[in-house]
Amino acid sequence: MRIIVSGIPGVGKSTVIGMVEEKSEYRVINFGTLMFEMGKELNLVENRDEIRKLNISEQIDLQKKAAIKLGQMNNIIIDTHMSIKSPKGYLPGLPQWVLNELNVSSYFLIESTAEEILKHRSKDPTRARDDDTMDDIKEQQEINRYYAVAYSVYSGATVNFIYNPDNHPEMAAENIIRRL
Ligand code: AMP
Ligand code: MG
Repeated sequence: MRIIVSGIPGVGKSTVIGMVEEKSEYRVINFGTLMFEMGKELNLVENRDEIRKLNISEQIDLQKKAAIKLGQMNNIIIDTHMSIKSPKGYLPGLPQWVLNELNVSSYFLIESTAEEILKHRSKDPTRARDDDTMDDIKEQQEINRYYAVAYSVYSGATVNFIYNPDNHPEMAAENIIRRL
């Protein structure tokens, strides 16, 4: 089985996913890491935050290649995004050519408040985060719900919205584990 776990940067996705991995038989594979490794090999990017700034056709090319690799792996949690905020607009993280390769059984979208997300981002100096306002964050989270529902309709897989409460990622993780 393959499942998708997503959430906007700063939502606490890595922490929650790590807890799910510990308590389940799934291993986590990060979609962006696969894209980054291939993009680096091709001298297109030097860090993972440059991927979303590439030409859309280059992003799609890396996206397709990553999807093919993931489609060959089993019992995985795919750590990725419902949409990617690129300078040219929102890019779907799971367009038809990705979903056809992955054949996932469920989508999970981790959400939190805009306040919490901004707080997490300001504490993580390792990433080149966008300078989003609270309204930008609210918009992205709303857009991601629409994308999640569209993917669910396209593929017939279930969709779950998981709230990650302040200081209690284990509650979000338990919520996911219960639905696996
Ligand atoms: P992350 O560390 O999860 O933020 O992933 C790093 C970067 O990989 C993201 O900012 C995107 O540019 C890219 N990425 C991850 N997942 C996808 C996807 N499903 N489709 C397109 N780009 C993706
Ligand atoms: Mg992360």
